[in-house]
Amino acid sequence: MIATAASAAQPTTHYRICPLCEACCGLEVQVDSGRVIRIKGAEGDVFSHGYICPKGYALKDLHEDPDRLRQPLVRRNGTLQPATWDEAFEEIERRLVPLVARHGKDALALSLGNPNVHKMGLLLYTSRLARAVGSKNIFSASTLDQMPKQLSSGLMFGNWFSVPVPDIEHCDYLLMLGANPMASNGSLWTVPDFRGKAKALRARGGQLVVIDPRRTETAEVADAHHFIRPGADVFLLAAMVHTLFEETLVEPGCLSDWINGMNEVRDAVAPFTPAAVAQRCGIAAETIRALARNLAGAKRGCVYGRIGTCTQTFGTLCSWLIDVLNVLTGHLDSPGGAMFPKAAAFAANTMGKPGVGKGVVTGRHSSRVSGAPEVLGELPATLMAEEILTAGPGQVRALITVASNPVLSCPGGENLDQAFAGLEFMVSVDIYLNETTRHADVILPGTAVLEDSHYDVAFPALSYRNHARFSPAVLARSAGAMPEWQILLKLVAIAQGLGAQADVLALDDQLVAADVARLAGDHAPAVLAALAGRQGPERLLDMALRNGPYGDQFGRKPEGLNLDKVAAAPGGVDLGALQPRIPEVLRTPSGKIELAPASLLADLSRARAALNDPAPAFSLIGRREVRSNNSWMHNLPVLAKGPERCTLLMHPGDAAALGLAAGELATVTLRPGRQVQAPVALSDAMMPGVISLPHGWGHDRAGANLQVAAQRPGVNLNAVLDETLRDPLSGNAVLSGVGVVVSA
Ligand code: SF4
Repeated sequence: MIATAASAAQPTTHYRICPLCEACCGLEVQVDSGRVIRIKGAEGDVFSHGYICPKGYALKDLHEDPDRLRQPLVRRNGTLQPATWDEAFEEIERRLVPLVARHGKDALALSLGNPNVHKMGLLLYTSRLARAVGSKNIFSASTLDQMPKQLSSGLMFGNWFSVPVPDIEHCDYLLMLGANPMASNGSLWTVPDFRGKAKALRARGGQLVVIDPRRTETAEVADAHHFIRPGADVFLLAAMVHTLFEETLVEPGCLSDWINGMNEVRDAVAPFTPAAVAQRCGIAAETIRALARNLAGAKRGCVYGRIGTCTQTFGTLCSWLIDVLNVLTGHLDSPGGAMFPKAAAFAANTMGKPGVGKGVVTGRHSSRVSGAPEVLGELPATLMAEEILTAGPGQVRALITVASNPVLSCPGGENLDQAFAGLEFMVSVDIYLNETTRHADVILPGTAVLEDSHYDVAFPALSYRNHARFSPAVLARSAGAMPEWQILLKLVAIAQGLGAQADVLALDDQLVAADVARLAGDHAPAVLAALAGRQGPERLLDMALRNGPYGDQFGRKPEGLNLDKVAAAPGGVDLGALQPRIPEVLRTPSGKIELAPASLLADLSRARAALNDPAPAFSLIGRREVRSNNSWMHNLPVLAKGPERCTLLMHPGDAAALGLAAGELATVTLRPGRQVQAPVALSDAMMPGVISLPHGWGHDRAGANLQVAAQRPGVNLNAVLDETLRDPLSGNAVLSGVGVVVSA
């Protein structure tokens, strides 16, 4: 039985969506006398059906971690010391307000990390903070891993968040590039228990085909795996598109009436014949043709690409070509193909006029030093250091980080370390004193995960199946803890000149009233009355659910959803399999799929020029591991135990040629002065000439307090990666396929 509130008297069981990765599994958390005594997958969860991975159990360690901050810290006489919330906010007001008054809004930057998307209070209120700060220097993890897909989706379908995902439950041919859902359970694709779903796909006669420079855990369970030279995905994909045209395999089916630009695509990929790209890809021309034919011949199939296809210099082209393939083969928006989820709340592609919209634009402003264009309101995260370190008007002098550790997660980590040390003022909203927040002048600790209620704001728009699930708080909030949305509203109040003493609940009321007036017009008073009794993120959630595609429309559709109804279903509300949504989902000005956006066609000439680039001595790629996710889970004992994970994977033949044995240290050098040393692990799963090192490690900095992580700190991959390498369209960092030299 699942309880809805904690009891200190006897063990109770609570439902909680896991916030540790994009899979969003429903968990059952058993609590006794205020302590977590057991965690398991929630069998009754309508979406994850009892699945849990090793990270899910670590929620207990996370809650009990003695290093997790529970009180604000303020720097006094050079050291961070415990302080009250009032003291912390007063210090921020005292230091930040005059700085911005003196140097302008752009002097204050924001850095938003990946965990923001996993906490309702953070995700819904960081946008308010960004608006209040008003700086063009907004940086986030999006330009480290996913912006290419958001940009290509925006250009093709009219909305940044209209990202099609495989309908895996009905698929019989799934071609996957640069993705390892056996370790991740999906990324930009929420698919808990990928292993079970892949097994079911194969059991019904379907095929899983993986293309990756490493024979990943996903490749191990696939029907076929093809090595590809890192960074060559764009050539493979273009050649597959070429083959579809050449062999008259283009059959978009019922999408035909909704496509602009088919001929332009055909002409643009003409130079990318399978024979022309085979050597660059390391895949035979006939294999490339067979991949195209198999995709075209699949009754229900699609191509899915993820982080490896985004984190390369042609990231946006790869993301685009993947969906071009899906469109041309009739697999987009078709059951078993790549489909658009319809989220119950917060999804921009369910709002406004169906079937048409403004589309997306980039470059509304540019970065000061490099002139890189804004994308989705952000500048590339890799530019943060130069914006801080380069003197002149508009220089960044102060920073607010929210759940962000760019010293470990962003290329050029050493430069960032140096840059943060030189800031005039820095505030961090974070639960850890880590490699980045050690530079802060004030640290404001977020609430414990189990003390927050939760709804996945972003992931239902990326889910393999439509659903709505809500988790009430499992544990009562600890004395002295402050909800993150209130922390962010305090910062909003300070940025707006309302002062550190501002009443954040009143400010929340004002902001919601303004939202409702904008959205509901004359109905605003009635809408506000219907939302009465709630505040903070739960009020925004209730409003979004009621106004959403399945909502009760504030009484006009009484059978529809609202927060009370979703909360009354502890395992969530199943909203069914993914359904075709074209043309309704489109938000392009033409009301059609833009298959040939001009900026992408133009960028193909850059790819053509790189077609014959020679292979570097070694290409460096990252890797995802099931017990880790970015930089912040290495302090949890249940995940930290076991074999060393921060190892340099290398093919045995390459190691032998260098005189390296397993366990010995190899030096990876990008250029003189830019190198790391890591222990070698041998694996014939690596393509010869390719090495792999996971990111998020390097927990050996003085001043951080991550006692478990520090015992086996690993090395920082981002200390060697090159912050000057970007996909020019999306601004995304190049993390994959970087040319390096390896030595013993
Ligand atoms: S896969 Fe693991 S970490 Fe991810 S949501 Fe599920 S239990 Fe949590």
